[in-house]
Amino acid sequence: MKWILIISITCFLVACGKSSQSSYMTSNGKVKVLSTTAMIDDLVAEIGGDEIDHTSLIVGNLDPHSYELVKGDDEKFLQADLIFYNGLGLEHGASLHEHLEKHSNAIGLGDLLIAEDKKAFLIIDDQLDPHFWMDIELFSRVISPIVTALSEKDPTHAALYKERGDCLKIKMLDKDKILLQKIQKIPSEKRYLVSSHDAFYYFARKYLADSKEEDWEKRFMAPEGLAPDGQMSVLDIQEVSEFLCENQIHVVFPETNINRDALKKIVAICREKGLHVRIATTPLYGDTMGTKGTGADTYLDMIEHNVHTLADQLPKE
Ligand SMILES: [Zn+2]
Repeated sequence: MKWILIISITCFLVACGKSSQSSYMTSNGKVKVLSTTAMIDDLVAEIGGDEIDHTSLIVGNLDPHSYELVKGDDEKFLQADLIFYNGLGLEHGASLHEHLEKHSNAIGLGDLLIAEDKKAFLIIDDQLDPHFWMDIELFSRVISPIVTALSEKDPTHAALYKERGDCLKIKMLDKDKILLQKIQKIPSEKRYLVSSHDAFYYFARKYLADSKEEDWEKRFMAPEGLAPDGQMSVLDIQEVSEFLCENQIHVVFPETNINRDALKKIVAICREKGLHVRIATTPLYGDTMGTKGTGADTYLDMIEHNVHTLADQLPKE
């Protein structure tokens, strides 16, 4: 018990050093770290603390799947000593993809992890599913390569990066357990999710499924595919409305960065079939995090928001 207390106190002390993004473009001798998504940037900030400057490329509600570079992004790439990106095909916008390929220090975190443990990652409709941040334990595996890369760039602070990484791991695994317990209180026969696009398969496998459930894929469905910029067919809409009827699901969840047209069509089709379905008033975060003031502006708060929204909106019995 005593050692847990010591680790907790140490973690509290080292966690206080989370750095700001403002000095990223200023030359000050610190390591400059660019991350593509806000989720990765948030973990980098925790590990790097005041010893680094960091920023994320894709902010707010912008779609990471189709993101193309805008004015000012070139400078961010030029300034970067290290770049972390999600990989697994997430960043497929042509200009971003090209810049990541060209940079000598760009690390695709998902691509590194899948090389070590292929089974942990999902293939949906013959495509690698890039949304692995939806499982906190799985996403916590990026800590190790981030610590290694920062330590190689800045060996003076290697011990500090390691310590902060260890603390972050404990914090993430702890939250993973708490949120799993929270969501598992929803009865198994009600633990189904329909959202806008295929961002929640990792989430469904980890949090919605019963323990060791083999056909966990039945827990989740969305009208739009792995990337919301893809084509959606009438058949997709039809399939989702049948899924809702079969499982007697009465609520669908919009995502913050995707328009609700497909969900509205689904609700209308269900109504014709005699099933009352509503669109949840609070959206989920699929591909993005919230901005300041939303209560979802850190990676863990964003996942917690999703879990609480589901626990709040899905039937309790
Ligand atoms: Zn997505």
